[in-house]
Amino acid sequence: MHKYRPASLLGRSIAAAGALSLLALATAAPANADTAPSPADQDVTRLSQEVNDLASIVYGSSLRAADTHFDSPAGPAAAQRGFAGSDPATCTDGALVTYARGLEAQLTPTEDEAFNTLSLLGEIYAEGVETEKTAEPFGTDGQYTARAMATITKLRAFWDIDSADIQLVPWKGTDLADRRKMTKAFALGFSPLRAEQATVLTEKVLAELPVFQGGRAPLLTLNSYSVPAGSMGGRRVVLGDGELDTTRMLGADEVAVETIVGHEFGHQVNYANDNFPADESSEMGPDAYGGYFVAHTRGAAFDARLRQQVGDLNADRGSCNRGHGTPEQRRAAGQWGEDQALGQADPYAIVPSAKMIADFKVEFTEIMAG
Ligand SMILES: [Zn+2]
Repeated sequence: MHKYRPASLLGRSIAAAGALSLLALATAAPANADTAPSPADQDVTRLSQEVNDLASIVYGSSLRAADTHFDSPAGPAAAQRGFAGSDPATCTDGALVTYARGLEAQLTPTEDEAFNTLSLLGEIYAEGVETEKTAEPFGTDGQYTARAMATITKLRAFWDIDSADIQLVPWKGTDLADRRKMTKAFALGFSPLRAEQATVLTEKVLAELPVFQGGRAPLLTLNSYSVPAGSMGGRRVVLGDGELDTTRMLGADEVAVETIVGHEFGHQVNYANDNFPADESSEMGPDAYGGYFVAHTRGAAFDARLRQQVGDLNADRGSCNRGHGTPEQRRAAGQWGEDQALGQADPYAIVPSAKMIADFKVEFTEIMAG
């Protein structure tokens, strides 16, 4: 639950000590300089308090239920789950997971607190204000909009669940720099005056911390996730611009939108069937249903070359220390789904979602047994 952790006092004192040593060299700063945080530190602390207040108001005191695409520092934290088969001696984290953690590791403590704050604020906008009807572009420069909308349209028709109200919305770091949008996000819980002040503070923090590139830094939105019914904006799939930027860099650009949205829609398939597993099948099931979708004639109909890229992307998202599945387990789950589509006597038939879930449960036991 990194989103709600209190400001790291330990990290803060380390940052102040680092600033002090620089000051001491340059200006022989007074002895009490280590107790005086920089203006950026103070702004980040204030913004963090505001966004955490907002989150408490809009999400309530309960733990948020949202299923992320992979174990990234960005995005709502999934429930911690026990994990079998992830022995660090034989497991290596996937490339996407490693990359995301590496980006966060480069941040100073103040930047890290700002990252968590800004990332959460962007989620609140995506979940509480954004709607599919407002037709915001997908991808930092809108380059994925057509594919994203074509994919969600296919998925709604593909699975047998009631899906008319499952929205697909973008999660955009650039929203943070949009005064109109942020005022709406803060107004979900604050008075107009407080919302306006918090919006100005957000702009200030973005300007003070160039590492976030005015909201374009991929880390701010380096994940995607699915939100169940009953949440503030209703059922939705939230597709992160930062994840699309990063999967492009990893060479998965041709398949990323369909694979990610196919996986996230798989969580909706689980929700609609009242299937809430407490083990890795909560992630690997959607990998399998997504595999079925991308290989199926009435789905994305990917050929062998593209399916290879899907397998690589599935492995890139695997991790060794939490319940999303290891790289090889995730690759195997997606592959099983593809095989179900490719092995059908009638390539146009679509397996009912309840049967797909039941069949995968059997396969899941085999994958986890190695
Ligand atoms: Zn997921």
